[in-house]
Amino acid sequence: MANGKQQIMCSVDSCHYWESGNHCGADMIMVTADSMADPAPDTIDAPQASIMPATPAEHCMETCCKTFTLKGSGKERMDGVIKS
Ligand code: SF4
Repeated sequence: MANGKQQIMCSVDSCHYWESGNHCGADMIMVTADSMADPAPDTIDAPQASIMPATPAEHCMETCCKTFTLKGSGKERMDGVIKS
C-alpha cells in the first residue's frame, strides 16, 4: 500500500487478489459507494481514484471494494491493479 504500513484484511476468498490468512494482495484497492461501483465499468478502479468524485455513504452496507475481481474470470488485468 502507499504508506507501506496499511494491511487490508479481507475474507472474500473468491477474489483474484485474496491471499491466505485473509490478506488482500492487491497493490492498491478502490473502496467506494455502491451507487458508483454498480454503474462504473471494471476498467474504472484504484488507478483512477485520485480524479474521481467523492461518493459519501451513511452505512457500511452502502460501500464496497470495487477492485474485487472474480478469480479465474479472465478480467484480472482490466483494472490496472497489480497482485503482489
Ligand atoms: S481486492 Fe478487495 S475483494 Fe479482493 S481481496 Fe482485496 S479487499 Fe478483498
